[in-house]
Amino acid sequence: HIVVVGALNADLAIRVDRLPAPGETVSGRDVEVLPGGKAANQAVAAARLGGRVRLVGAVGDDDSGRMLREHAAAAGVDTSFVAMLPEVPTGQAIIPVDDAGENSIILVPGANGAIGPENIPVEAYADAAIVCLSLEVPLPVVLRAAARAVAAGAAVVLNPSPFRPLPGELLDAVSVLIVNELEAEQLLGPTVAPAWPGAAKALRAALQPHGIDRIVVTRGAAGAVVVDGKAVTEVHATSVDAVDTTGAGDAFTGALAVRLAEGDPLAAAAAEASVVAAFSTTRRGAQPSYPTASELAEWR
Ligand code: ADP
Repeated sequence: HIVVVGALNADLAIRVDRLPAPGETVSGRDVEVLPGGKAANQAVAAARLGGRVRLVGAVGDDDSGRMLREHAAAAGVDTSFVAMLPEVPTGQAIIPVDDAGENSIILVPGANGAIGPENIPVEAYADAAIVCLSLEVPLPVVLRAAARAVAAGAAVVLNPSPFRPLPGELLDAVSVLIVNELEAEQLLGPTVAPAWPGAAKALRAALQPHGIDRIVVTRGAAGAVVVDGKAVTEVHATSVDAVDTTGAGDAFTGALAVRLAEGDPLAAAAAEASVVAAFSTTRRGAQPSYPTASELAEWR
């Protein structure tokens, strides 16, 4: 199984001509409520491609929570470890998207902020081959999940987003780290990084004390850089007319997890993930934009 632990969000997507600057009012149109949240997105992306996926997280007792669970289940995701917390609302994200497909995000954590390690039984990690982690849930949840993953003999794939300083205990558990350029810079901190792909090597050096030598840096329309031991490989982005990049990184992570579970080397898995992520930018929303294996085959 691919076990994905983290957030489920109802995304309130709004089209705008351009994103508002501080103090500015812009008008929006085409308001939609769409299923999102990093973990739910990654789980749905992986399941649509044929992966055996279990989603672990929490929602509130409300329509958004039911919508999120139904949407994930319809994609083939096992949602039996998505807890329902009656005291809090389901997580929400307010996402204005401009005409170039760029977005900004306001997160309202709700159930994602209220979930604790005690809400996740150890059975959630049964037959886990890969455990995908991200940081839209409290750190104790992530730390416990990482420990359970290691105990189950699973590979931990960490996408440290939204970024925060990472405890050594977490990094020590990581097999594959996936970061975007901004997160890569935040991880490097004040270290002056050389241009890409050199920065990926600097990242490898910085993470080497934690035993991490498998790193993917996603670079939007510029593709991705893959570090696998001594090898550094550049993966090209598929050229597309992007309409909405929301959830592209999660599509990448979900697709990567499927390929890693099938035994692909990291660079080959990232090349495939790059195609899936590019596909996802050609449609609106996060989860609704993710392809099935046959849609992908037809498209490429
Ligand atoms: P995040 O969404 O996490 O910030 P990126 O912006 O780096 O991550 O996007 C993740 C991946 O999605 C990229 O590595 C690339 O494969 C794909 N992608 C994103 N934007 C585009 C684009 N405009 N054209 C083609 N592929 C894209």
